Amino acid sequence: MSKENRYDVVVVGGGPNGLGIAAYLAKCGVKVAVVEARTEIGGGCETIEPIPGFRIEPHAAYNYAGASPAWEQLELHKFGLRMVPCNVWGTAITSDCKRVTSGGRWNMDVVRESMAMWGPDSVAQTEAINAILEAPECREWLRSIYWTPPLPEGYSREPQDLPWVKAIKKLPLLGQIYDDSWLEMSTWDITNILCKEDAQKVGICDAAWDSGPEYITKGLGMVGAAITFLIMYASGVFLGGMHSYAHATMRCALAHGAKFYTNSKVEEIIIENGEAKGVRLADSAPSPNKVIWADKAVISDVHVKETFLKLVPKKHLDAGFYQKVLDINLNGGSLFKLDLIVKELPRFKGKAGEFMDKHPSLGCIFPVESMEEMDRHRNVVDVERRFPMWGKDGFVMRSVRSSIYDPTRCPPGYHVIYNFFPVPVPEYFVDGIENYNKHKEEMVDMALSMYRQYCTNMGDDNIVAKFAMSPLDSSIRNMGFVGGNWEGIRVCDDQWYDRRPLPECGRYRTPVDKLYLVSQTSYPGGLALMAQPYNLMHLLIEDLNLKPGGWWYPSPYYVSDKQVKSGEV
Ligand SMILES: Cc1cc2nc3c(=O)[nH]c(=O)nc-3n(C[C@H](O)[C@H](O)[C@H](O)COP(=O)(O)OP(=O)(O)OC[C@H]3O[C@@H](n4cnc5c(N)ncnc54)[C@H](O)[C@@H]3O)c2cc1C
Repeated sequence: MSKENRYDVVVVGGGPNGLGIAAYLAKCGVKVAVVEARTEIGGGCETIEPIPGFRIEPHAAYNYAGASPAWEQLELHKFGLRMVPCNVWGTAITSDCKRVTSGGRWNMDVVRESMAMWGPDSVAQTEAINAILEAPECREWLRSIYWTPPLPEGYSREPQDLPWVKAIKKLPLLGQIYDDSWLEMSTWDITNILCKEDAQKVGICDAAWDSGPEYITKGLGMVGAAITFLIMYASGVFLGGMHSYAHATMRCALAHGAKFYTNSKVEEIIIENGEAKGVRLADSAPSPNKVIWADKAVISDVHVKETFLKLVPKKHLDAGFYQKVLDINLNGGSLFKLDLIVKELPRFKGKAGEFMDKHPSLGCIFPVESMEEMDRHRNVVDVERRFPMWGKDGFVMRSVRSSIYDPTRCPPGYHVIYNFFPVPVPEYFVDGIENYNKHKEEMVDMALSMYRQYCTNMGDDNIVAKFAMSPLDSSIRNMGFVGGNWEGIRVCDDQWYDRRPLPECGRYRTPVDKLYLVSQTSYPGGLALMAQPYNLMHLLIEDLNLKPGGWWYPSPYYVSDKQVKSGEV
């Protein structure tokens, strides 16, 4: 057998999570190969130029990963990664365009100025949130949720033993008001404790719904509310676009000796005697060797459904497990995207417009002063499973306007605006998946009608180009996005934490020996946080007997199976 197609570890899929684990392992001296189906690595972290000189992002656009240990551990700055500082990260606008709420930690004066429109109580509350963000324990709290592997079987799940409960108690203010009943609450319940104005509640609930659990899901309120802190703690966009994140991670892996196969779809994960042994490539793959062997492990960065329903031959799986994979719920997380190239940024009416002209923010959401609008939007999408209708249903628009802060996105005199909003999961669409994309034009018209209602300059003379992408398009573009779902699978209590995607795979290991999962369908879900790679590293250090250098540090909340079995904890 030739040496060229034999590695310690083969990673299937070169999305951000696959690239991350490849970089970590290569840095530990492991001989690793990444096998990617598409011609370019990056998965959901992709930046394209549909018109020369104009960059848009088909999927991920916004970086929430500022608190990740991977930045320093992998030294991604040495491989070209630059986060663009954004003076104001987000602004929420009321339906009468009279008031705005700005968020972010980098320019508190702007935040204060916006909150002053709501009255002294809101200003005081903003100061309190800022005090939490500025506390050194804030990063530890975020890491205890996202950058800590789920606790092992046999270890207590009592509130006092949960990492995020231990961590939140150390936080100023939040630590004082937290009580264990929060563990049973939804994001909506917790926002009612934290905020007075509906505008703030909409902001927090929207962040949860767009980037994590639906805000009404009981038991996931802590993680739903934490997403807002994750964003406010340190976030923004990458110079050049989201692909630069994937590219820097790939360059890190390459610098440490990893090998990449692109245009190489894996058709099968080879299992022998119950152990993952390698992968079989499609005939179309350019490599003359269609089998790549893995002596120590195969790691799948491919959606759990694709991994077990398509790549692992069914005969190697227990029938009950196979059925559970089929039953995994995809609801939530399917986003419709509309990129607009415009000559001028949307000019909002009234006082909101004046404020936004003075302090242009990276993100924007409207309308926000009432939860009712968002509730109606959510009900249509997640319960009735149909597209929202203009004038009849609630509709809340979100946008990311990276070109305000990153001059590489388009030539001077233009802006690129990434707009998005939730729509039904294609597979669950009430009129059938075959009719799904018939609604694309309707959704574009609705988004533009919305802009025209709120802004004075969003006519055809300002809009240079439009690019629409439905969740169905997303899932065709990237096989990782089953259901076009940016969380991979539903973020609900029975698919969360050590039950994500299923209890059998809750700590990245799977029922097949030496086969691990690293994709967004594992804990802690979607977003390019470099969380799955960091968390999986804890287990691989034990399973593969790795000896990372002094650069590695584990989560202070990590508990190993060995510690539980030996009675040490
Ligand atoms: C519309 C949208 C907007 C989003 N916005 C954001 C955002 O602003 N910020 C953020 O952090 N996240 C965002 N996300 C989520 C983010 O993109 C994902 O969570 C992230 O890409 C998941 O990374 P991954 O590595 O798990 O999987 P993926 O990115 O899906 O990568 C999987 C890779 O595996 C490859 N692959 C699949 N099957 C095979 C096979 N058989 N053989 C070989 N290769 C294979 C795929 O081609 C792909 O490259 C968004 C997602 C969507 C859909």
